[in-house]
Amino acid sequence: MNLSDQLSAAASENPSKEAYIFHGEGVSYQEFDGSVTKFASSLEKLGYGEGDHIALVSGNSPSFMIGLYGALRVGATVIPINPTYTAEEMKYILKNGDVKAVMTMDVLMEKFEKTDEELTISHYFVAETEMGIGESLLSDKMKSFTNTINEGEITFQKPELKEEDVAVILYTSGTTGKPKGAMLTHKNLYSNAKDVADYLQYTREDRVIATLPMFHVFCLTVALNAPLMNGGTVLVAPKFSPQEIFELASSQKATVFAGVPTMYNYLVQTGANQTDTFKNIRICVSGGASMPVALLNKFEEQFNVRVSEGYGLSEASPVTAFNPLDRPRKPGSIGTNIVNVENKVVDELGEELPPGEVGELIVRGPNVMKGYYKLPEETAVTLREGWLYTGDMARVDDEGYFYIVDRKKDMIIVGGYNVYPREVEEVLYNHPDISEVAVVGTPDPNSGESVISFVVSNNPSLNESILKEYCKEYLAKYKQPARIHFMEELPKNTTGKILRKNLREKLTQS
Ligand code: AMP
Repeated sequence: MNLSDQLSAAASENPSKEAYIFHGEGVSYQEFDGSVTKFASSLEKLGYGEGDHIALVSGNSPSFMIGLYGALRVGATVIPINPTYTAEEMKYILKNGDVKAVMTMDVLMEKFEKTDEELTISHYFVAETEMGIGESLLSDKMKSFTNTINEGEITFQKPELKEEDVAVILYTSGTTGKPKGAMLTHKNLYSNAKDVADYLQYTREDRVIATLPMFHVFCLTVALNAPLMNGGTVLVAPKFSPQEIFELASSQKATVFAGVPTMYNYLVQTGANQTDTFKNIRICVSGGASMPVALLNKFEEQFNVRVSEGYGLSEASPVTAFNPLDRPRKPGSIGTNIVNVENKVVDELGEELPPGEVGELIVRGPNVMKGYYKLPEETAVTLREGWLYTGDMARVDDEGYFYIVDRKKDMIIVGGYNVYPREVEEVLYNHPDISEVAVVGTPDPNSGESVISFVVSNNPSLNESILKEYCKEYLAKYKQPARIHFMEELPKNTTGKILRKNLREKLTQS
């Protein structure tokens, strides 16, 4: 099975059911699947097929969804790219990824004008926004996305897709250096979407808010592939804002919300009088970064809805663990193995550690990537004897619930003692006047490294010495922040993950 065929199967079972809703307008499965087929047939006529790499650079929109499934249907490999990347960042991926065509939006064409000369792109399929397609240096290569669909044929004979073929290459920043392309096969993506759908008990009644960026695998699997597999409806949110989510959740009777912790934080900050807004929501899913327990409790209390935290990474399509819906949930934990996937905590030699001990989390299952594109050495370091080494430090309890302690590289070593930023962050998050926290390490001549904390607070009388006193109550001396900086806002990427790298840079500049 693969996602393209699965979409067609869902469409024949639920032809008139809404596949997605965008700006209040619903589109049926039949219509959506038809557009996908027509787009694929046009791609084929233009010479695209198996083995061709097509980039997808777009905000959350129907054209993203049609482009994704259309390119998969013709047998091409899709490379989703963050549309907020600079021209330079994009150029690296387009070049490294051997991209032949780009599916994008008119508002982004300016970036490609800067990069096209150095690339070998044959076509840009351009979705029109209100801005419209104006004059462009690349007019000869541009094709309207809508016309490409309209010119296609519904009778198109789909090629047979092989499960080991690469469906998507996701460029992830990994731990160091340039982004690496994680190759996910049809089997990887299909199996993870199916396992996630089973775990979250998705049905055709579900209406899932897709506000995480679609180019990110969290959204791709949890809020697109999994609900569409089961005849559910995707509520497309072009960008995240608490007001938009409240509006969408109540007007469209959303049943599932998927977000990263910073989104939950914004919802808590702005949703004091929104107690009924999430009344149709049966489950909120959190992932992408650790969910502070204090925030989880606040959110659940304020909105009267359950939050289930899961864990994943691009290289695993992405989900490997989830807090189960039919067994107790443990706050602070990423939950247990999802079906078909094994998680294990190991020491430096790859030996499994007993419950309670901290080591690297490794993962095995049908969702684990084929490797990094054109990087056999990096692949060999990350994939060993069938296991994916995640670079995350974790422990497991006696009941098989895993806890992410931190990223291996984020660990701070103070005078020989390990400090996991997450532990310090949890303490600060518990302070009633603090809304955001990030902790990083900085070189220290005496202790090797020291703990530095960045906080956001809306209480002007809160200061560094009050917070330091507060930390003394909960943290051993070596874990206490040496300095606490107050900020208006913490730097985040478009997925909402806090950019600790930028905070570290801030320290070296000051
Ligand atoms: P990405 O490949 O962009 O999806 O990033 C994957 C990384 O996000 C993982 O390796 C973890 O470091 C982090 N991550 C994802 N989910 C969680 C979670 N629930 N708790 C802590 N870290 C997480």
